[in-house]
Amino acid sequence: MIVSFVHQLYTSLFDLFFPPFCASCRAWLSCDEILCTKCIAQIKPVVSHTLAITKKRSIVVYAMSDYTYPIKKLILAKGSKNISVARQLGKLVCTFTPIGFVDYDLVVPIALHWRRYAQRGYNQAHEMAHECAKYKNVLLCDVLVRTRHTKRQSSCSADERVNNVKDAFVIKDKYKKVLKNTHVLLVDDLMTSGATLHASARALFAVGVKKVTVVVASRVT
Ligand SMILES: [Zn+2]
Repeated sequence: MIVSFVHQLYTSLFDLFFPPFCASCRAWLSCDEILCTKCIAQIKPVVSHTLAITKKRSIVVYAMSDYTYPIKKLILAKGSKNISVARQLGKLVCTFTPIGFVDYDLVVPIALHWRRYAQRGYNQAHEMAHECAKYKNVLLCDVLVRTRHTKRQSSCSADERVNNVKDAFVIKDKYKKVLKNTHVLLVDDLMTSGATLHASARALFAVGVKKVTVVVASRVT
């Protein structure tokens, strides 16, 4: 009881000096939320999407929203090196997509090429994946390696996007055994054409992954 009182007192004092505010519009929040009710009301939900990977394999992609305000603003925060926003995006996909009902065994973020990682200092997908792993108490495994420094998908035409990332991902040797017969939750911030997810899922299936489900913050519709 004393512990609970001290915790409440600490939380109240913390909120007094560091009040929580909306990650998108910066409005003050009265409780421990990420977005204010106005911003939540502006989220434009999208239905799940099925992406064929091979003749026999397909994956389901869950997205929290269309690529519009307020989620678009949070995704673009990666340009300003804001790691806490990336974590908040991870918490939001746990709340606003059905992944709570998906029985994934481990979480895999889409990899950045080391050169882009060096520029940015972190991988937004990795930070989101961290929250998805914590949510289900499963492991986060950085199993993918991006072998080529590909052009930004957003700067490619639809046809270029497929070739841009084709065979750009391989699986780290030390994880190949661990992945066999698992259900992987693949995490990224944004799906545009799906070419990046397609290339990554192919690499996962090639080493014996049983099932891949994808969660992204936004999907371009
Ligand atoms: Zn807001």
